Amino acid sequence: MEKYDLVVVGAGISGLSSAYHIKLDNPDLRICILDKWGTYAQGNTAKSDAAFRDVFTSDTNYKLASASISFYKDIQDKGFNLGMHSNGYLFLMDEERLNSEAVKKILKRVRSKIITREEIADLGIQVEPDPEASKIMNLRNISGGLVGENCGILEPDLLASYYFQQLNKLGAVFKFNTKVEKLNLAPRSRLNFPGEPFIWQDKVVESLHTSAGDISADQFLLATDVWTSDLLSPLGIDAFTQPKKVQVFQLQSDGISKMISRRVTGSEDIFPFTILPGPAIDLRPDPKSKTFWVSYSEGVGRAFGLEEDPIAEAEYYSNNLHTVLREYIPAFHDARMLASWAGFYSMNNMDGTYVLEKYMNLSVVNGSSGSGIMKADSAGRLASALFSGREKAKLYGNTEIDVADLGITNRNVDQEELII
Ligand SMILES: Cc1cc2nc3c(=O)[nH]c(=O)nc-3n(C[C@H](O)[C@H](O)[C@H](O)COP(=O)(O)OP(=O)(O)OC[C@H]3O[C@@H](n4cnc5c(N)ncnc54)[C@H](O)[C@@H]3O)c2cc1C
Repeated sequence: MEKYDLVVVGAGISGLSSAYHIKLDNPDLRICILDKWGTYAQGNTAKSDAAFRDVFTSDTNYKLASASISFYKDIQDKGFNLGMHSNGYLFLMDEERLNSEAVKKILKRVRSKIITREEIADLGIQVEPDPEASKIMNLRNISGGLVGENCGILEPDLLASYYFQQLNKLGAVFKFNTKVEKLNLAPRSRLNFPGEPFIWQDKVVESLHTSAGDISADQFLLATDVWTSDLLSPLGIDAFTQPKKVQVFQLQSDGISKMISRRVTGSEDIFPFTILPGPAIDLRPDPKSKTFWVSYSEGVGRAFGLEEDPIAEAEYYSNNLHTVLREYIPAFHDARMLASWAGFYSMNNMDGTYVLEKYMNLSVVNGSSGSGIMKADSAGRLASALFSGREKAKLYGNTEIDVADLGITNRNVDQEELII
């Protein structure tokens, strides 16, 4: 049987970043990274809007995201293109939200500014949608916008390729088209009696049963996102997360093309990633195609559950998103849909951020809850500390964070007020 010091299951952004930081911290470790698909970053990482923001009220979210953003900027400044643009995040807000304590906190904490309703109207957005439609659809008048300036978009495949290339240089082994079917539990010290492990024996994960044969290691790390409970449940371990489907629709029109080149912050003529008030639909500009990717993270009304090959539902766009969009943004009236796709958030419904826990010789990095790209580098550094048994992880820029804060038993994550 093949044997490694550590096997990481999942070559999405969480697995890649975790493997990279563990390998950097332990250069002699023999690490193998497995994925069921033919190459890295084919899961939810590939489906992502890959927008990033440091605009968070929660200290934990702020630390995880701002340190990762600084790391990504540093990589790009050193010449590795991540397709990163600091075009900003624009939260469109009604009067109450604009004057909230959450906004005051953000303005003090991060590089950000308020823009007026006149400036917003000038961008091609209706600040007072039709009163009749507003009544029916719970639309809100826009009083102003909060602009996060250290925010923007990147390309998730380029970010993933950075970690992939670094891991190859460091000598990590990748095995693709290798699906883990089962984690094999065994006693730490074998007696070779039938029926082991017994309840009175210490247990470890001894090996993985995969589609390419069994693979053994001293340590394992699962970075399997929405598929984590498939592997943990048979062991009687709760993943504490649920899959939630999220759909993305790519829209084009002459009006949208013109909007995409409007600058609100930063040094490039690119529209900010924008969140509508009321139903918080988000608009992700794609500067290359001059289109918007439109998406909505649905709470009540969208069941938890996983499909192996999810597709976006055209009627979901026309009945739900388009009806709201055309009231706020006239450029969507005659917009054509060029493409659509769907993926899943691995939702931690307690506080909406990563969950890192270690069971026996098995570390688990899961629950990125729709913000895994913007927090992945910090998650990887936390995973390395968890793997090594260190109490604190040092994030990029030397901010420290207690590993247990992101765990289950002593979890200490403050609630986020600026939820999209
Ligand atoms: C539509 C959409 C929009 C998003 N927008 C944003 C955004 O704007 N900003 C942001 O920060 N985040 C966003 N996210 C979230 C972000 O994409 C995820 O948090 C992140 O990609 C999760 O990465 P991961 O590595 O944990 O999971 P994945 O990328 O899903 O990787 C998990 C990997 O595990 C592998 N795997 C699973 N089970 C097995 C098995 N049994 N055997 C072998 N391999 C296995 C899978 O093949 C997969 O490659 C979005 C997500 C979606 C779906």
